[in-house]
Amino acid sequence: MKIFISADMEGISGVVSMDQINPGARDYERARRMMTREVNAVIEAALEYGATEIVVNDSHDNMDNILIEELNPRAALISGNPKPLSMMQGIDETFDGVFFVGYHARAGTPQAVVDHTYAFRVISAKINGRPMSEAGLNGRLAGHFGVPVVFLSGDQSAVACARMELRDHVGVVVKEAVGRTAAVIHPFEVVKERLRAGVAEAMKNIKNIEPTVEKGSVELEVSFSISGMADMALLIPGAAKKDGRTVIYTARDYMEAFKVFRAMLALSSGIR
Ligand SMILES: [Zn+2]
Repeated sequence: MKIFISADMEGISGVVSMDQINPGARDYERARRMMTREVNAVIEAALEYGATEIVVNDSHDNMDNILIEELNPRAALISGNPKPLSMMQGIDETFDGVFFVGYHARAGTPQAVVDHTYAFRVISAKINGRPMSEAGLNGRLAGHFGVPVVFLSGDQSAVACARMELRDHVGVVVKEAVGRTAAVIHPFEVVKERLRAGVAEAMKNIKNIEPTVEKGSVELEVSFSISGMADMALLIPGAAKKDGRTVIYTARDYMEAFKVFRAMLALSSGIR
């Protein structure tokens, strides 16, 4: 059983503040150790319940957070940035299931640790009219390859977003957010048990979980915090303006929509 893990940091059990998630910040080194430990717990459980091959894609910020020297040696790590498929680099049709570890809620979600959607400048990203978190966006790319998302961990709001956006999967709440930078957190022994139980359930049901597939053409709609960002996104041939801050693009398939979203992010990045 071949498993793809995309690991972010905002939804890691002990992480609550910007002083932890930004490389170089006061508590960042501790946060990356917590991230590595949590990914290891998921890897160990997956191996225990039948995984034979595991690829971990580091999916936070510069994407070189996970400490390879502390990672379970049964897993391979994709580290660094930029990567063409970003948080989903490495996914293809050879995988049996996708795990999202340390994920967070989409931009604008109340009671969610560091809610955002790929970048703080994105107010919303919609696929065929439905708002998406990173789980929804990334899960559909897995679906493009016929691979289901079978497991997600994060705060209660990250789990709730994924429930709305993806087909049936196991969601594990590792902390309870009380605000954007505050949460009820638990000692790792408690979290580890929750993760293990969730991974066990996901692995046992993996053959019955369906991928989330967008068939046919896909409408991508992105709203930015500043109109100039939308103007830059409009440089993409075929992109159309919906309003001052919102751009629409109709893609032939989901892969194209995902790549156009990535291109819009790159084009808009320099605007202040
Ligand atoms: Zn992140």
